[in-house]
Amino acid sequence: MSTALPAGTSDHDALPPPRGSADSTPPRARPAVVPESSLDDPKRIGRILVEDGLLTEEQLSKALRIQSRLEASKPLAALIIELGWVSRPRLETALRRHRRELSVEGILLEKGAITAEQLTAAQETIKAQPGVTPGRHLVELGALSERAYLEAYCEKHDLPFVDADPSIVDPQLLKKVSLRYLARHLALPLSIQDGKLNVLVDDLGKADVVSEMQRLYGCPVSVCIGEARRIRETIEALGTDAESGKRSATRVQYHRLSETGEQGQAAAEIVDHIIARALRDGASDIHVEPMQSKVRVRFRVDGGLVHVTDYPVSYAPSLISRIKVLAQADIAEHRVHQDGRICVNSRGEDIDLRASFYVTVYGENAVLRILRKAKALVGLEEMGLAPATLKVLNDEVLEPTTGIVLVTGPTGSGKTTTLYAAVERLNDESKKIITCEDPVEYVIDGITQCSVASRPGITFVDSLRAIVRQDPDIILIGEIRDHESADMAIQSALTGHKVLSTFHTEDSVGALVRLLEMEIEPFLAASTVTGVLAQRLVRRQCPQCRAEYSPTAAEIKALSLSRDEMAGFSLTKGRGCPHCFYTGYRGRTGVFELLVMHDVLRDAILQKRPAHELRRLAFETPGFVCLQEDGIAKAIRGETTLSEVAENCPRSKTVRPLGRLLELYE
Ligand SMILES: [Zn+2]
Repeated sequence: MSTALPAGTSDHDALPPPRGSADSTPPRARPAVVPESSLDDPKRIGRILVEDGLLTEEQLSKALRIQSRLEASKPLAALIIELGWVSRPRLETALRRHRRELSVEGILLEKGAITAEQLTAAQETIKAQPGVTPGRHLVELGALSERAYLEAYCEKHDLPFVDADPSIVDPQLLKKVSLRYLARHLALPLSIQDGKLNVLVDDLGKADVVSEMQRLYGCPVSVCIGEARRIRETIEALGTDAESGKRSATRVQYHRLSETGEQGQAAAEIVDHIIARALRDGASDIHVEPMQSKVRVRFRVDGGLVHVTDYPVSYAPSLISRIKVLAQADIAEHRVHQDGRICVNSRGEDIDLRASFYVTVYGENAVLRILRKAKALVGLEEMGLAPATLKVLNDEVLEPTTGIVLVTGPTGSGKTTTLYAAVERLNDESKKIITCEDPVEYVIDGITQCSVASRPGITFVDSLRAIVRQDPDIILIGEIRDHESADMAIQSALTGHKVLSTFHTEDSVGALVRLLEMEIEPFLAASTVTGVLAQRLVRRQCPQCRAEYSPTAAEIKALSLSRDEMAGFSLTKGRGCPHCFYTGYRGRTGVFELLVMHDVLRDAILQKRPAHELRRLAFETPGFVCLQEDGIAKAIRGETTLSEVAENCPRSKTVRPLGRLLELYE
């Protein structure tokens, strides 16, 4: 690590030049940093993959040929993933290893944050502006967020990217320097650890400030990078704190209050801040990961990991210790994996955090899974079903008192949530509802729930046999997973019960095919299944940053759309903002495909027609809309995006007229 600047030495030459600023001092004459063209060569990532043995020469030249034919530019890395030649994690590992060789702009290109055209234009424009980098120029133009730029900058220079906040500043340090000085230079001393002063700046080209800090505090400086705006806001907040005489730190209410020593105070505040923020942002997991040159904090939000902030690497031991104290894990033990639990109260809600500590080469990783005790039950109306689809589901699938209703999709597609919403809809005093689940995920008042997982010695099938003798009207089976549970479901339906269950298949027709593969007689499947609801979760557009955009040729092609038809609609997409962690998405919604058993389909099953024919017939049943079509309609309505649909829904070669699809939502 070379981020520590030894006191007294000017490290000017090692630092990139400052950007052109409106300061009173004229910018030093320095050559413009034009990214080394060979490094930003789009072919480079391909070469790296070939060198690493992940790609063959033939694959590389084929990928480059395809790339050159694409109408809209696409990063080579993205294309290679799409072609399925290298998986995303392997590609990212290879990239990380080689990123330090790339320029900041090269990293941004590979991440797809900027296009080659934007970069070329920026390089052209800044020729007359010494000291301005193309990346900075694109930030000034608003074509790139400062955060995206700085994150790439930190990757290049292997520095922590710190999301500034008062909790990370040691107040003792502020006694030596005026806030006005800090505000003028946008520099913030954070802490002294391991004999080094951690200083947060927005740009490495601040050698003067850095040497001033070294002189003031009498120790070498370790630099980290943050957004100018956040640094400014933090300095202002610290000023307000100083005036009011108290610290406006975020405090979290723990059920088991643990003592914090003088020394652990800073770490305690930072951990409080991380937990409070994760709860506020609706994260499901918190990852605190010590790495070679920083501690990275990421949240899982809406199913995906988002980078929240880094801390200087010297923070790792105290942060992990603090989390271990809270989780009642052994803080003296660093060599074995550990578990623990933290109970917090946030806005009147009791929340459990399940902690796990995993020993890595850089120290212990902490992951906190956030378990909300009162998991909110979502109503059918709020799931994102098109009004027309919801009506058919209610009237033709849920209303009949017998038959099997299947909710299907892969793991994490939200099918359990939908199943409970359906049960909640059917739940009234005149009906006996019994469940057999593995495990019980939501507790619903008025129904009899049994968790198979927590009852050793009782099998799924035992429970199903017992349920029938409990005189139920409606039976909920957590999941049909084998011939036996499928058979029980069918027998129950044949004896006049209504059965609801989930099934693990790609789409609605897949569920019928799967039942037949489980050696269920076609006439039994055809006469008992009343409807299959297939679903996926897609991310919602962020309401705070959505803006108009034109779909790319690749998106249009991937979804079998026609450019002419799409021209009739104006699409939107999130540009990325603090509210959505710069992803452009916030929250998720369902995409649905509801198959109602009609006579044509029943006959086809009885005649054991092949899967593709069942699928063709499904499209002919009234009101049937496939997952991809429902997704496209939602993208046009601004609820999600075409790329989310392409990524999450099974592809369908034909898409019916969009006007007709949108009628479902009227
Ligand atoms: Zn946003």
